[in-house]
Amino acid sequence: MVTAVDISPTTRRGRCRDVPIPPAAELTYQQGKGWHCYACGKRLTAGAVLVGRAEGRDGAHDLSAEVYACP
Ligand SMILES: [Zn+2]
Repeated sequence: MVTAVDISPTTRRGRCRDVPIPPAAELTYQQGKGWHCYACGKRLTAGAVLVGRAEGRDGAHDLSAEVYACP
């Protein structure tokens, strides 16, 4: 009866894949290539998780890129 919504802050581990995908323009070159985690910037080796697509456009150029996160 304390609260109706349980956001469980203690059970969330803050995984990189839970971080909202930023606009493509905010990614580093390595993040845009999928070499580095888009959330924490660490270099990815085995088991990287494809999370989705960062959307972006610069004039005529489509900057959209698939982004990966730590496993
Ligand atoms: Zn990460």
